[in-house]
Amino acid sequence: MLPRRPLAWLAWAFRGPPGPRGACAPGAAGAWGRRVGPRARRGCCTAPGTPEVQLTQERYPVRRLPFSTVSEQDLAAFERIVPGGVVTDPEALQAPNVDWLRTLRGCSKVLLRPRTSEEVSRILRHCHERNLAVNPQGGNTGMVGGSVPVFDEIILSTALMNRVLSFHSVSGILVCQAGCVLEELSRYVEEQDFIMPLDLGAKGSCHIGGNVATNAGGLRLLRYGSLRGTVLGLEAVLADGTVLDCLTSLRKDNTGYDLKQLFIGSEGTLGVITAVSILCPPKPRAVNVAFLGCPGFTEVLQTFSTCKGMLGEILSAFEFMDAECMQLVGCHLNLASPVQESPFYVLIETSGSNAGHDAEKLGSFLEHSLGSGLVTDGTMATDQRKVKLRDEQEDCPIAGPLEPEVQPPVSGNSAKSCVE
Ligand SMILES: Cc1cc2nc3c(=O)[nH]c(=O)nc-3n(C[C@H](O)[C@H](O)[C@H](O)COP(=O)(O)OP(=O)(O)OC[C@H]3O[C@@H](n4cnc5c(N)ncnc54)[C@H](O)[C@@H]3O)c2cc1C
Repeated sequence: MLPRRPLAWLAWAFRGPPGPRGACAPGAAGAWGRRVGPRARRGCCTAPGTPEVQLTQERYPVRRLPFSTVSEQDLAAFERIVPGGVVTDPEALQAPNVDWLRTLRGCSKVLLRPRTSEEVSRILRHCHERNLAVNPQGGNTGMVGGSVPVFDEIILSTALMNRVLSFHSVSGILVCQAGCVLEELSRYVEEQDFIMPLDLGAKGSCHIGGNVATNAGGLRLLRYGSLRGTVLGLEAVLADGTVLDCLTSLRKDNTGYDLKQLFIGSEGTLGVITAVSILCPPKPRAVNVAFLGCPGFTEVLQTFSTCKGMLGEILSAFEFMDAECMQLVGCHLNLASPVQESPFYVLIETSGSNAGHDAEKLGSFLEHSLGSGLVTDGTMATDQRKVKLRDEQEDCPIAGPLEPEVQPPVSGNSAKSCVE
């Protein structure tokens, strides 16, 4: 059941115009160093002198809907609901008003930091009664502008909703609050010999609730599937404050409607996700990474087919990037390609339980691909270099405004399937 009044949340389905591809600011190389959380590179910590991001309402022909504005009484009510969790300091509000790509800026004057679903429910009930617009925000790493207000919407941050509620060490089912940072969850389950079913370059900042709200794909999608399969249940609070409890931990649940699916990918338009139950796979014992140079896109596709055939059950990721993308990575992240210059690059990851068996399979695949001309150069990562190769691929969105998972179909084959 949806609330009577139309939802105040606006999910933005556009991106700002990308900067020139391949362009590289002089002196930028290496300035960011390695493995810094994306937040450190965004609006919140911009160097003095960086131009201010233009207001979204000035940049686009958008119209504010007739919502109320936040009054002193509203602030007092929020302070009663979340004591100490009402942020109105203009300086502290700068970063949450600007999106990760620094192309959009809202002018919210209030950010709320609840700790529990009950607090979220009370906040939304108040906003509903007062006709106040709300914009849910997780780690603010989204790339389509949905995480930041357009006008003066109240920002509802899940940053303090960061508790693990339970973890079952036999089934691998993790139940946690929506504001848990993905990287912290990864560390937590890895200590218990499991991994998160998703991994992406924004993991140091993004929240699991934001991941679910954006139906984030990431680097493990090929192996473990999308969040539509691994999210077993969730809890959400609707615009009128109603708590929707679908936080089941059942893998097989064929009772009634699967309401959680509506929230996966809903970008905050249906409610605020407050908790998630997610299935974590066991940690693979052996991981190998190969990085290859390909002479053309046709060869990338053929390499993908060959690789699926020859590596079968141990293939866990297949990703490609073009020469321009590699140039951006080199320029902005100071990383050199581990193989000779090529029009396309492919990263292949295998995950299995027997290191010797997996390395042998990957080795014969590489031999075949090099022999048949599908790839012109390649390297298999040793343990020390695995992480570096993987980071290079993960950080592509950091190096430039690219969204490798959204690609048009190419020659009857979907390029998306190649980067899953
Ligand atoms: C370096 C980098 C790499 C990335 N790699 C990938 C990738 O490989 N694959 C991929 O799919 N995406 C990728 N992304 C984008 C990705 O979608 C986001 O990084 C992430 O999933 C968003 O999580 P967040 O917590 O930052 O959400 P935010 O950016 O804060 O919010 C995103 C949207 O979800 C809504 N939202 C947030 N939390 C909630 C909640 N609790 N309830 C309801 N709505 C909510 C917001 O209103 C907004 O509409 C990448 C981004 C970066 C910066």
